[in-house]
Amino acid sequence: MNKIEHIGIAVKDLEKANKLYAQLFGEPHYKVEEVASEGVKTSFFKVGENKIELLEATNENSAIAKFIEKKGEGMHHIAFAVDNIEKEILRLKKEGFKIINEIPKQGADNKLVVFLHPKSTNGVLIELCQEII
Ligand code: ZN
Repeated sequence: MNKIEHIGIAVKDLEKANKLYAQLFGEPHYKVEEVASEGVKTSFFKVGENKIELLEATNENSAIAKFIEKKGEGMHHIAFAVDNIEKEILRLKKEGFKIINEIPKQGADNKLVVFLHPKSTNGVLIELCQEII
């Protein structure tokens, strides 16, 4: 794994959260993107070299809606950049990690993504993402 690519935060109201985080960082988000297949609308902020992703559910079956229902708003996942996502999946499976979607799917921000089940990572939802070139 290369680096933390971004940190994902689940929010109830993206528009309100965008304003709040713009105040916090002193700069507005630089993009909004809807991933219809996942039922989420996302926005991205740059903080120095790092990125923060805010996620709002667009329907009640979305993983974000379920997360907020169970745990409330807050930190949702940490995403790590990888060069070869297929290779990482194989490696992590061998190590015994539980992968939620073994076939990488299209995520926000032009990435292929997979998620590791929090049960196998001490309660932290981990995303692996590979830039689509
Ligand atoms: Zn993410």
